[in-house]
This record gives sequence, structure tokens and C-alpha cells, in this order.
Amino acid sequence: MTLSILSVASEAVPLIKTGGLADVAGALPAAVAPHGIGVTTLLPGYPKVLAGLGKGRAVHRWDSLLGTPARLLKGQLGDQPLLVLDAPALYDRSGGPYADAAGKDWADNWRRFAALARAAADLASGAVKGQRFDVCHAHDWQAAMAPAYLRYAPGPGRAARSVITIHNMAFQGQFGADIFPALGLPASAWGIDGVEYHGGVGFLKAGMAAADAITTVSPSYAAEIATAEFGMGLEGLVRARADRVTGIVNGIDPAVWNPAIDPDLAQRFTARTLGSRPANKRAVESAFGLDTGDGPLFIVVSRLTWQKAMDLLLAAIDHLAGLGGRLALLGTGDAALEDGFRAAAARHPGRIGVRIGYDEALSHLMQGGGDAILIPSRFEPCGLTQLYGLAYGCVPVVARTGGLADTVIDANVAALATGVATGVQHGPGEEALRHAISRTIALHANPATWRRLQRNGMAADFSWARSGAAYAELYVQLAGQA
Ligand code: ADP
Repeated sequence: MTLSILSVASEAVPLIKTGGLADVAGALPAAVAPHGIGVTTLLPGYPKVLAGLGKGRAVHRWDSLLGTPARLLKGQLGDQPLLVLDAPALYDRSGGPYADAAGKDWADNWRRFAALARAAADLASGAVKGQRFDVCHAHDWQAAMAPAYLRYAPGPGRAARSVITIHNMAFQGQFGADIFPALGLPASAWGIDGVEYHGGVGFLKAGMAAADAITTVSPSYAAEIATAEFGMGLEGLVRARADRVTGIVNGIDPAVWNPAIDPDLAQRFTARTLGSRPANKRAVESAFGLDTGDGPLFIVVSRLTWQKAMDLLLAAIDHLAGLGGRLALLGTGDAALEDGFRAAAARHPGRIGVRIGYDEALSHLMQGGGDAILIPSRFEPCGLTQLYGLAYGCVPVVARTGGLADTVIDANVAALATGVATGVQHGPGEEALRHAISRTIALHANPATWRRLQRNGMAADFSWARSGAAYAELYVQLAGQA
């Protein structure tokens, strides 16, 4: 039997991206296709998405979808079907997917994403002619109301089974109780088992309570979110539904992240031709105005936020430079952190280079040229940049948390002795980060050891094949319960 899945997300590469969610949503359809599973992706019709869609054919219209006219346009995401929810009152505006150009969340985000979820639920329960789905896969809070609609207010047909994937527990879509009447849910949906959360409406909470399965993007994070430290208030619900919770590590798309064919590199390379790699290091040094040298070049490609522990890195940066390390940092985020890194660059000319901004091509070059990528996150559901680092011989130096703990093998004595290490792990806090930086610099001073770390990482398979198989298995299981 061929299964048909509706994947609902607020972003997906190559059309719109602000973070790892877009990479996952974009790669998922092709990843499960070899298992005989078809995935249709549903995205909001932001201007960028409509522009990328080209000539979309309208396949459905709503006179009023949560109070606004909307239609569904059909297109392609790669060679898989794409549906775009064209509702100009909700999505046709400049700025980002979630916030205006000044970074302020859109005041009607609840309506923008409840409408997306309502459309998904219609699609997944026979309300849209010609569309039939076995499983509705909702990603993050923006799509999380879809399982709730399927449970409390499905369309006329058989409701699909549902799964929600939590890419980051920190973003929950919490709104006031006053929006409840506008959601179009029956009164029975209001309650501790439904959409109510702390006296308001919790989108992620509602989805987690209603979905037939809950996944998150690494086994470690799946365990962590059952604790008060990482559950962000939802740990009780995670524990109550523990039998439905699993962790599936994200994969990376080898067509996009592969140093053998990457057009953004100054020089392409493989594990066998690491001798070609330094051309990329020179290019990174030049792009960031850094001194040239064989000493360790650290890189950072990250949102500059508390989650990513960029304040700890800032505190450890003089230590890094003092030990002869250099750092090229690409990122955007909190203004105070941006200023802090600019000031660090001014303090250490030639050793610390900072680019405040978002630059996909430069991020590829940095992975291909940096010696080590620093990822000191306080929590990390999966993390993608350590996987890119592994694939590109840019040794990951990571906090021992979430997906970082699951994907990097620390160069401790045992792992070095057995030849399996792929990076460096450290505990929480500034001191542990400083120590990890020192340890990395010491490892880098031994070329044979370093090369082994690089080769081990490049040999590790974090392509989508494995994650695709895991999602396929989950879909089959869910559809079998129907
Ligand atoms: P998160 O989704 O929490 O931001 P991930 O590591 O899962 O973290 O994914 C981040 C993605 O965004 C990666 O693909 C990374 O390369 C990319 N990225 C982050 N910041 C930048 C930037 N300033 N320029 C280019 N790419 C970036």
C-alpha cells in the first residue's frame, strides 16, 4: 500500500528558511520516498513562497478560513507535491515568517497559524476534493493545531492519523484565552486534555495532547524534555504521553551538504583529498580579515541567542585568542551579543572575525575551511551545524546535550585509543567551554590525531537515509492503527 502523508510546516527549503526546521521539512519528502511513501507539503503563502511556486494551480477555495478568504495552490517541492495556502490577509506582508522587519512578532500569529492548521485538518479529513491522506505530520507550534482540529473538529471524511514533531520546545505558541472562540473548536476542546494551557490557548500543548504520536529530533532531547530543565513547562505532558514519544535524529541532504560537489567552496575535497582543504581555510581567513596560518581556525554559524550559549562563548573568547586560536563567526540575533562579538573582533584584529548577517554560501565555505566548529548550546533538540561539520572535516566542539550528545563522539582516551572519536564534547558552563577550547587546540597540534578525527566524522553517515527510514516506519505504524 502506498501511504500518503501531509507534512505541515511554517518553513521549508528551498522556499523559506529561518532555521533547522526548514532543512528538515524540505528534505523529508525525498527521504521517505524510497519507502513507497508520498509526502505532500503544506506551507503558508508568504511572498517568498508564492514567488518560488511559479504558476500554481488553485485546487480549493475557502470563503472564510478563520475569517479570511483563502485558496490552495498546487506546485512542486523538488519532485514532490506542494500545497501553498494563499491567504493574502494573513501572509502577504514584508518582514519574516513570524515577525515584522523590526523583529516584533506579528500580533495575529495565532490566526495566521491556526488557519494553516485548519487548512491542514480539512485536507486530512476529506474536506478538500481530490485530497486524501493517511497521516498528517505537523511540525512545531505553527502547525500544532492540526492534530487538535483533526481530533475535535474534523471534516466530513475519515480523519488521518496525526504526528507532531517538536523541533524546539522553547517555542510553544502561547496565546490568550480570548482567541478560543475564533478558533472554531467545540467547547469540549477547552480543558486540560485539550487546547487550554495555563489559562490561555497553547498551540504546541494542544498538538501534543491530541496527536497520535509525538516525535522530537533526537533521542537525547526526547528524554530531556521529560525533565523540568528542558521541558519548558510541558514536561508533565511529555511524561504522561511517554509511550508515544520517540526521537529521530535529523539527516542532512547530501545533494546540498557534500564537500565533493559543493559549489560554494574555493576547492572541493573528500576524505581522501583533505590536502585540498586548506584552500578553503585561506578563503575563510580572507573573507573575515584574519591572519593566515596553520593554527586552529574555529568557526561559528549560529543564531546569536541564549539557547546557543553565545554569551558563554563571548566570555571565553579572550581565552581562545590567548591560546593562539582564531575565530570566524557568522550569525545574527540578540543585539547585545552582536555588539559583544563586534567588540571582540575590534579587540583581537586578525584573530577574531565577525560577520553579522545570514549568508548561506558563506556558511558552506566556513564548514569547508574551518578546523573546528563551536556549538556550546545550553540545549539543542538536534542541531544541524555539527552534522555539516562532520561531513566537511570541520571538527565539532559541542555541549553534551540533546542531538549534539547523540551525534558527536568525544575524543576521550577510550575513543582515541579505539579510533572512533569525531569531535569534542563539554559540559555546561563557561569553564567547561574554556577547557574544551584548550583541549581542541591541543588535539589540533597533533596532525595525525586531527586527521583521524576529520576522517571519522566524514565517514559517519548522517544522511537522510537513516532518518527517512525511521519516519517511514512511524508512518506505517500509525496508518496501521487507523
Ligand atoms: P536552529 O534551527 O536552532 O537555529 P540548527 O543547527 O538546527 O539550529 O539549524 C540552523 C541552520 O541555520 C543551519 O542550517 C545553519 O547552517 C543555518 N544558519 C544559522 N545561522 C546562519 C547564518 N547566520 N548564516 C547562514 N546560515 C545560518
